[in-house]
Amino acid sequence: MPGTNLTREEARTRAALLHVEAYDVELDLSSARDGGTFRSTTVVRFTATEPGASTFIDLVAPAVSEIVLNGRALPLENFADSRIALPDLAAENELRVVADCAYTNTGEGLHRFVDPADGETYLYTQFEVADARRVFPNFEQPDLKAAFSFTVTAPAGWVVVSNSPTPEPTGDGDTRVWKFEPTPRMSTYITALVAGPYVGVFDTYQNGAQSVPLGVYCRPSLREFLDADAIFAVTKQGFDYFQDKFDFAYPFAKYDQLFVPEFNAGAMENAGAVTLRDQYVFRSKVTDASYELRAATILHELAHMWFGDLVTMEWWNDLWLNESFATFAEAVCQAEAPGSRWPHSWTTFANQMKTWAYRQDQLPSTHPIMAEINDLEDVQVNFDGITYAKGASVLKQLVAYVGQDAFFQGVRAYFKRHAWGNTRLTDLLGALEEASGRDLRTWSKAWLETAGINVLRPAIEVSADGVIESFAVLQEAPALPAGARGEAVLRPHRIAIGLYELVDGDLVRTDRIELDVDGERTEVPQLVGRRRPAVLLLNDDDLSYAKVRLDADSLAVVTEHLGDFTDSLPRALCWASAWDMTRDGELATRDYLSLALSGLRRESDIGVVQSVHRQVKLALEMYADPAWRETGLQRWAAAAEAALLDAPAGSDHQLAWARALAGSARTDGQLDLLAGLLDGSRTVEGLAVDTELRWTLLGRLVATGRADEAAIEAELARDNTSSGQEHAATCRAARPTAEAKAEAWASVVESDTLTNYVQEAVIAGFQQPDQRDLLAPYAEKYFAAVKQVWETRSHEISQQIIGGLYPAYAVSQATLDATDAWLAQADPAPALRRQVVEARAGIERALKAQAADR
Ligand SMILES: [Zn+2]
Repeated sequence: MPGTNLTREEARTRAALLHVEAYDVELDLSSARDGGTFRSTTVVRFTATEPGASTFIDLVAPAVSEIVLNGRALPLENFADSRIALPDLAAENELRVVADCAYTNTGEGLHRFVDPADGETYLYTQFEVADARRVFPNFEQPDLKAAFSFTVTAPAGWVVVSNSPTPEPTGDGDTRVWKFEPTPRMSTYITALVAGPYVGVFDTYQNGAQSVPLGVYCRPSLREFLDADAIFAVTKQGFDYFQDKFDFAYPFAKYDQLFVPEFNAGAMENAGAVTLRDQYVFRSKVTDASYELRAATILHELAHMWFGDLVTMEWWNDLWLNESFATFAEAVCQAEAPGSRWPHSWTTFANQMKTWAYRQDQLPSTHPIMAEINDLEDVQVNFDGITYAKGASVLKQLVAYVGQDAFFQGVRAYFKRHAWGNTRLTDLLGALEEASGRDLRTWSKAWLETAGINVLRPAIEVSADGVIESFAVLQEAPALPAGARGEAVLRPHRIAIGLYELVDGDLVRTDRIELDVDGERTEVPQLVGRRRPAVLLLNDDDLSYAKVRLDADSLAVVTEHLGDFTDSLPRALCWASAWDMTRDGELATRDYLSLALSGLRRESDIGVVQSVHRQVKLALEMYADPAWRETGLQRWAAAAEAALLDAPAGSDHQLAWARALAGSARTDGQLDLLAGLLDGSRTVEGLAVDTELRWTLLGRLVATGRADEAAIEAELARDNTSSGQEHAATCRAARPTAEAKAEAWASVVESDTLTNYVQEAVIAGFQQPDQRDLLAPYAEKYFAAVKQVWETRSHEISQQIIGGLYPAYAVSQATLDATDAWLAQADPAPALRRQVVEARAGIERALKAQAADR
C-alpha cells in the first residue's frame, strides 16, 4: 500500500519509460464559495519508450468519473490508493481523466479560505512537495517536466492568476472562463493557481529592451497595509543583480507575487507566480528586521526562478542544493546590490541561518547535507536546518574557497548548459571545477557527505611582555549525537582571524588574516612576534561553518564589551558563540543572562536584539536551574521593563522591549503596566499600542489570569479578522485553567476541523512555560495519541501537532523515559520517529544545561 508515498525507485522507472509533452487542465471553481469538491478534467499527452508497458499517474481525489486512455475507457477501479493504473501504453498516449478534487484547509493542494472581514472566498495552490496531484492527475516527480495549459471557470469578478499571464476572461452570467497560454516546460510542483477577489498592484521591470510585467496581490482587507512600492523596489534590485550575476534573462513571461492567507511556509517559488504568507503585509508596526526578512524572502524566491525553476533537481535528494543556493543568493544580493537597504545581511545570516544550522546539526537526527531521500516521506521531514541553513553556510564556504568570481562564472555556465532541464549536484560541481580550476571532490566529500560541526579553538602562547610566541587553530571532529548518521571528520576550512583592540571604549578591528585551516592543528605564523590584541576572533567574517571558541583573555574582554564591537558581524559571531556555549552547558544560564543584559545595552542591530531576547527567554525557561529559574525570570522581566521605558521613543528597540516585557511580565506592577497600556490608562511615549501589540499584551494578561474570556471577546470585536481569530484562539488556549487546556487539546487532537493556522494558534497558546502543573497530565495523553495523529492527518497538520504538543516544558528524566518507552513500543515510521526523537533531544540538552547552571 503506497498510500500517498512515492519511492525514488518508482520515479526512476517512470522517468525512464515516459516523456511527458503537455497537460490541458480544466478546473471548474464556480462553486468555490460552497466548498466541498470541484470538477477537474485533465488531458495528458505523453510518449512511452516501451509500448505495451504499464505505469501509473498520481491523483489524490475523493472520486474519479472517467478514465480514458488512447480512446479506451478504463475501469474506474484503476484509481486506487492515490494512483491511476495505466496498462498497455502505446508509443504516443493521450489520457483523459475527470475527477472530483477537494478543497483543503491545511495549506496543501488547493487551499480554500473565507475572509471574515468580507465573507469572500480566496483560493491558492501549494504543490511542493507532491500536492499538484490533489488538483489534477499528473506524474508527480520533478524530472517529468511538461507544458501546462490551465483553463479555469470561476465566479465573475474574480481575479485568476497562474504561471502564464492572465488572459481576458470570456463568458457571461455568474461565471467566467480564463484560458491560459501553455507554460514553458516545468515541473509539476512549481505550477500554481490563485483565484478569488484578490486586488493587484502593477509595475514593470524595465532593462533596455526587456520589459517584465510585475504584479503584487493580496486580499482587499489587507490592501490598506500593502506597501507595494517597497516590494517592487526590492524585486527590481533582485532582477538587476541576478540577471547580471547569472548572465541569463529572467526566463518567464511575467512575475507576480501573491500574498495569500494561511500559508504554511514563508513563500513558494511557483514559476512567475510566487505565493507568500500574508503576514508579510504588515498590519501593525514591525521592526526593520521584519522588513529585512521579507526582502530576503522576496529575493530567495526570485533566485529560484533560475535555480530550481529553469534548472531543476532531478530528485528530492538535491533539495538542499535548491534551497541553499536560493538562501545564499538572497544574502549575497542584499549585501552587494547597489542601493540595498540591508548591506549587513551577512550579520543576519550569521545570526539566523547559522544558529539554525548549528542547532539542527547537533540533533540526533542530523544527517549529511546530501541526504538519502528514498521516498516522499523522507523529503517531507527534510525541509530542515541542514537543508536550508547548513547548506547555505557551506555554499558560502565554497564561495570563499573557489572565489566569488569563479563561483558565478561556473553558475553562468551551468544555467546555459541545463536551461529547462534537470540536474544533479555533480553538474554544478563540474561547472565550478571548470571555472575555478579547483578539485571539488575532496571538498564535497568532507562537507556534503558527512554530518556535524567542527569546533575551532585557538591555542595561544604569550610572553610576559604580551608578545605572541605561538598561535595555532585547533580543529575538533564533530561530537555526533548517539544515533546520528555519518562519520565525524576534520574538514578544510577557509577562515579569517580578526584582531580587535579597545579604542576609546570601542572594539575596533586592527587587522585580519585569511588562511586555510586543515587537520587537527594549523599554525598561524603571521601572528607570531606581534603584540597580543584585546580580542582574537576565529572565523571572523563568518566564512566557514564551525563552532568557535575564544581564548580566555579574549573571552574576558568579550564578556564585558560584547556590545562595544563597532561592526555588527563580530558582535553577532560572539553572541552566537555565547549562546552555543550556554546550550552546551559551558556557560551557566545565569552568566549568559548577565552577558546578555550587559551586551544588549549597546546592540544596535535589531534582528540580533530580537534573537537574543528569544534566546534569553528560552535559556531561562529550559536551561536554568529550576531552583533559580524564578529569580532569573524576574531579573529578565525587570530589565525588559526598564529598557522599554528607557528606549528612544518610537524606535524598533522600544517595540522589541515591549514585546519582551509582554512575554515575561510577572509582578503585579508589570502586569498593571501591560493592562494599562491595553486600556489606554498608561502610555509609553512613542509606543504605538496597535492591533498586533494589543494581542501580545492581552495574551500575557490572559495566561496569568488577569484577563478573561470577556476580554478576549472584546478584543476580537475590535479585530474581527482572520488574524484576530487566530490570536483569540491562542488567548483561549492560554487561559490558566484545566478546562481551557482540555478544550484546546480536544480541538486539536480529537477533532480535525481546525485550519492549519487556527490549529497552530491553539498549540501556541496551549504550551505555556508558566503552566507546567496544568500541562503535566498531557505528557501521557501525547504518547497515547501521537501515532494515530500521524497516521490520520495530513503531513503539515501532523507535523504541527507532533512537534508542538510534545511535553517540551516537562524537563525531567521521566519525560525521557516516557519517550523511550513509546519509541520502543510504538515502533513508529522513520519520519514520525525522527520528529519525536528531535523533541526528546531538547529535554536531554535542557537537563545537561540545568546541571551546569546549578
Ligand atoms: Zn526556497
